[in-house]
Amino acid sequence: MLRIKASAVEKIKAQAEKDYPYETCGLLLGKTQGDIRTVFGAYETPNANPERKHDRYEIDPKDYLKAEEKARQFGLEIVGVYHSHPDHPDRPSSFDEERAFEGLSYIILSVSKGKVVSYRSWHLVDGKFREEEVLLFG
Ligand SMILES: [Zn+2]
Repeated sequence: MLRIKASAVEKIKAQAEKDYPYETCGLLLGKTQGDIRTVFGAYETPNANPERKHDRYEIDPKDYLKAEEKARQFGLEIVGVYHSHPDHPDRPSSFDEERAFEGLSYIILSVSKGKVVSYRSWHLVDGKFREEEVLLFG
């Protein structure tokens, strides 16, 4: 299950709309307790994919390290990744699944004509993505 601060969701949505028609991406900073990941903030990273920004995203390892550093300052860790699907549903692609890691949450936002229409969170179970419940908190 993913618990996420409402302000972090707002930030992610705004970022996904700003980057349309390209995929936006970033990291979720929070804490993990058993099967529950709690997100307190979103860390924006540039889409480092050199030529397919409209349907692929990549996070530069340097940005990953910066996010980790930022998280540590607040006593947090990286608990997930978010990215958008411009003019596509909020379901993971097989490419998304292949590159995912166990123990992290993956939020995918569907952006249609520049507006976020839906988002869902996924996590790996035995190497396959499964949808997880998302709970907002103040
Ligand atoms: Zn994707």
